[in-house]
Amino acid sequence: MVAQLDPTVVDRNTTLDTLLQTPAGRRLMTCIQCGTCAATCPYGEGMDFSPRLVINMLRRGFLDEVIQSESLLRCVACYACMAKCPRGIRLTDVLLPLVKEQTLVQQSEIPAELQKSLQNLLRYGNPMGESPRKRANWATTAGVQVPLLAQRQSNGPVEVLWFVECYTSFYARGQDNSRATAKLFDALGVDFAILGNEEKCAGDCGQLTWESGLFETLTAHNLEVFNKYRFNRIVTGDAHAFNAFRIRYPMYGLQAPVEHTTGFFARHLPQLRPLLTQRLDRRVTYHDPCCLGRAGGSYDEARALLEAIPGVKLVEMVHHRANAICCGGGGGGMWLDTYYKQKGLERLSERRVKEAIATGADVLAVACPYEVSRFEDALKVVPHDRPMVVRDVVELLAESLA
Ligand code: SF4
Ligand code: SF4
Repeated sequence: MVAQLDPTVVDRNTTLDTLLQTPAGRRLMTCIQCGTCAATCPYGEGMDFSPRLVINMLRRGFLDEVIQSESLLRCVACYACMAKCPRGIRLTDVLLPLVKEQTLVQQSEIPAELQKSLQNLLRYGNPMGESPRKRANWATTAGVQVPLLAQRQSNGPVEVLWFVECYTSFYARGQDNSRATAKLFDALGVDFAILGNEEKCAGDCGQLTWESGLFETLTAHNLEVFNKYRFNRIVTGDAHAFNAFRIRYPMYGLQAPVEHTTGFFARHLPQLRPLLTQRLDRRVTYHDPCCLGRAGGSYDEARALLEAIPGVKLVEMVHHRANAICCGGGGGGMWLDTYYKQKGLERLSERRVKEAIATGADVLAVACPYEVSRFEDALKVVPHDRPMVVRDVVELLAESLA
């Protein structure tokens, strides 16, 4: 499990130039060049400089060659290398983002799709370039009351500040996740509220992709909004926001406990289980999101929720839990599919749905909003004999509510 980034290991102002003076940087020197990281990386074969070679070049003072190559454009921040490194070297959340950022500065051509998304994040606070004023529009179709924190009457703290995030606010298919979550909160009688238009992207992909400056802008905004309100915990269904709040935001002052919706609802399973009365009779396989599984150590919660639904039979893919294959959406991969195609690389989402199809499941369950659209797209091109649908865990729970 990846713990919060201890500021004594690396602080928020660390750059490539100062990295080797920090404890995390000095740990790079303990790399034994075993190559486990390169072998674990889903795109390792396509990289001129795998994580092992990045360290080797850094130690020999040849990092410019890495920065000028396109190697780290292939890194989808999946945490697979870091999870397996026998030396505990912080590859995914310390070394690789710092190298990627310099790559962005020095590369003459950054894939247009990625560039546009980063510009949208800066300008609109969401990667799709939607008007920030529409952020809470989905709530009018939730079927239950979705209170805004700004309009809350009570003086006491709200129990749950629900950080909805971008894909679940703006994308039609992502909004299904939000409606399901609202219904579950309502059914459990949870005291919750959302930030509405005051919320901006948590910025995890800004940090793990290319842009620490962009990440800091988004972080500063969200922390300022958090500081206006009183709440006991933050809950989010976005595994990337969960990652950012848990690992990075504490370095900027966030102190509130943070839970992913799967963790929150699993903790409330004794109250939730009696409400799950609709049988679903589905064979379900669960994809572990990288930010929740390898990065967050949460593997059991989503499975416990799925198994609580009457009629659900859970089956596992060949690669699951810590060995799960990334959907390819992290670290900017969400906006690099065209680039990967041009380079002749298989989309990881297609590699993953092949494993899901092989289980004979009829539902591919996920717990991160990126995965719904990525896997639904992949299923359109990967041949399969029996129908398969993609559903977030919260969508299946809400379907089973009386
Ligand atoms: S797995 Fe760790 S120790 Fe092995 S080569 Fe990679 S960074 Fe070095
Ligand atoms: S984080 Fe994932 S994609 Fe990036 S180098 Fe490590 S294993 Fe490869």
